[in-house]
Amino acid sequence: MDLETNLKHVMEGIEESKLKSPFKRNVELIAVSKTHSTQMIKEVRDLGIKNFGENKVQELMEKIEEIQGVNFHLIGNLQTNKVKYIYDKVKLIQSLDRIKLAKEINKRALKDEIKVNCLVQINIGDEDSKFGIKYNETEDFIYQLQDFENLNILGLMAIAPHTSDEALLRKCFEKMNNMFEILKSMRYSNVDMKYLSMGMSNDYKIAIEEGSNMVRIGSKIFGNRNYN
Ligand SMILES: *Cc1c(COP(=O)(O)O)cnc(C)c1O
Repeated sequence: MDLETNLKHVMEGIEESKLKSPFKRNVELIAVSKTHSTQMIKEVRDLGIKNFGENKVQELMEKIEEIQGVNFHLIGNLQTNKVKYIYDKVKLIQSLDRIKLAKEINKRALKDEIKVNCLVQINIGDEDSKFGIKYNETEDFIYQLQDFENLNILGLMAIAPHTSDEALLRKCFEKMNNMFEILKSMRYSNVDMKYLSMGMSNDYKIAIEEGSNMVRIGSKIFGNRNYN
């Protein structure tokens, strides 16, 4: 496993796709390190990558303890009873998808007098996925989030359907970008639509062409995982 070569290919892929995209957005890379060792993460950190994504709270906590000089993003489902372990330790919670969860994060943030950065996770047409709010309910959900003043809602996150149908992927990403643009024009005090987090190892190029400015890439950097 040559992490440096993998990373170089991914960076080149990102640059090429940016050039093809009409949006010309800067793209942030989140290296998805779930299941991989702290040693591999440190190696990628030392190659200049600062942002890492994890999807399990326990694993995330262990890695936060052991690895300095990086930011961690929670990209997986967050149970309400586990908020207390991570709300003040992550750069961004990318998987906010329930009012109950917003309420719990806000309660803790309020007590500490801090703001917690979140993305709203949207379920774009993958019927198998239990997570994310329905696309058509996005505006209403964000409207309701106004009540939670200690949350900074910084954008949207989506996982595209697992398919090689490029036209379908493109359509999903385009829909997401449309919603991102709609929400950008709204003026809520705790909402600032900065990030459109979409695109993974197999679809990040299409995602960037369609407006993504944050990609979450695991296997193309770290290789295959043993479990999800
Ligand atoms: C695992 C995961 C990724 C990265 O997946 P790859 O296909 O390995 O790039 C991105 N986003 C989320 C939410 C994930 O759970």
